[in-house]
Amino acid sequence: IPVRDLLLERIRDVADYPKPGVMFKDITPLLADPAAFGALTESLAELCTRHGATKVVGLEARGFILAAPAALRAGLGFVPVRKAGKLPGATLAQAYELEYGTAEIEVHAEDLNAGDRVMVIDDVLATGGTAGASLQLIRRAGADVAGVAVLMELGFLNGRLRLAEELGGAPLEAL
Ligand code: 5GP
Repeated sequence: IPVRDLLLERIRDVADYPKPGVMFKDITPLLADPAAFGALTESLAELCTRHGATKVVGLEARGFILAAPAALRAGLGFVPVRKAGKLPGATLAQAYELEYGTAEIEVHAEDLNAGDRVMVIDDVLATGGTAGASLQLIRRAGADVAGVAVLMELGFLNGRLRLAEELGGAPLEAL
């Protein structure tokens, strides 16, 4: 069965989570199935290689689960982008808009450098706010963007459109 179908079969829709009116895409059934998790890891690693990445950034928290094995599979290092206040060393921070209020993400400054080509990996692209902020962090660190790779893009939220400027021509891949 095609990888896309294998992945889709293992994503569960949860109604009214985390709040009424939201249909949450739950990836835990996929993670619990080694065939699906393995196929996903393989596909993400292949995207890293295809787009010439030299480093992989994972976005807290579910992005870590996907990005770390994909990075290893592709023979690349893994760099966590975390919510503000979680990293012990010197950081670069980037704030971004949420539906209500703002959020902030951080990366260890020493982890991203000029000459790096970074693939950003997350589970779900929704509004594109989180991924967009991570691209700004990567560029501010002096590194280049290889692309953004996600398991799933929620097309009706138009994240791809919001990200267009930050992508600056780099690919957005949704499996
Ligand atoms: P965005 O910044 O694109 O609006 O939101 C994306 C972030 O929120 C991702 O880090 C993702 O993990 C999380 N997210 C938003 N909606 C969902 C969802 O339906 N399912 C999952 N698994 N994560 C979601």
